[in-house]
Amino acid sequence: MRLILLGPPGAGKGTQAKLLVDKYNIPQLSTGDMLRGAVAAQTEVGKKAKAVMDAGKLVSDEIVNAIVSERLDGKDCANGFILDGFPRTLQQADSLAVMLKEKGIELDRVVELEVDDEALVERVSGRFTCGSCGEGYHDKFKQPEQKDICDRCGKSDFKRRPDDNAETMRTRLLTYYKETSPLLGYYYAKGELTAVNGMGDIDEIATEIQNVLNELTS
Ligand code: ADP
Ligand code: ADP
Ligand code: ZN
Repeated sequence: MRLILLGPPGAGKGTQAKLLVDKYNIPQLSTGDMLRGAVAAQTEVGKKAKAVMDAGKLVSDEIVNAIVSERLDGKDCANGFILDGFPRTLQQADSLAVMLKEKGIELDRVVELEVDDEALVERVSGRFTCGSCGEGYHDKFKQPEQKDICDRCGKSDFKRRPDDNAETMRTRLLTYYKETSPLLGYYYAKGELTAVNGMGDIDEIATEIQNVLNELTS
C-alpha cells in the first residue's frame, strides 16, 4: 500500500497514519518527524530548519525532497509506505512523481482529511506526544488511559511542540491554504484523490479510510 495522507495541520494525519502502520506493517514517513529529528540531532539540515519550523513556514523543497528520496530507498518501504506531511507544495508533488517513476513504483491513493478550521485549532492546541514511542495524545480527545503514562510504551515522557500555539497555527494554516491546498486539485485531476470526512471520532475516520483502501484491493 502506497499512500499519501493530505490535510491541514491538526487534521489527524499522524493519528491515522499510526493506525495504518499497525494494520499494514508499512512505515509512516512523516517529514515533520524527520525534520524534528534533525533539529534535535543538530545536523546541518536541522540547524537550517529550526527557525523556519518555529515560525510555521515551510522548509525548502530542496531539503525536504532530498530527505524523502533517501527515505524511500529504505528496505522497510519495499512493501509500501504512508506519506504524512509530504508533499506540501506543487514542486514537491512533481518531485515525488519523478522519484516514484525513477524507483519504478506507483502511488495507490491520496486520502484527504477534511476538517473545519476551528476544530484544527482546537486539535493542535491540545496536542501532545509520547517522547519515547511517538504515540499521539490530546488533552480533551485522547488522553492516556492512566494519567501521565503512555498507553503504548508505559513511559511518562510527554512532549508538546513549540509550533503548536495559536499564533504559529495561524501562519501554518495560511501556508496550508496558499501552498498545499493546490495539491488537492493536482491529485484530483490525476484521478488519485479521495476525500474523507475528518470531523468524526478517530475510530470512525479510521474505518472510513479502511473502506477507501479496501475498495482499491477488491
Ligand atoms: P502538521 O502538524 O502541521 O501537519 P508537521 O509535523 O507535518 O506538522 O510539520 C511541522 C513543520 O515541519 C511544518 O510547519 C514545516 O515547517 C515543516 N515541514 C514538515 N513537512 C514539510 C514539507 N513537506 N515541506 C516543507 N516543510 C515541512
Ligand atoms: P496532524 O498529523 O494532521 O497534524 P495529528 O494526528 O497529530 O494531526 O492530530 C492532531 C491532534 O488532534 C492530536 O492531539 C490528536 O490526538 C487529535 N486528533 C486526531 N484525530 C482526531 C479526531 N478525529 N478527533 C479529535 N481529535 C483528534
Ligand atoms: Zn509511549
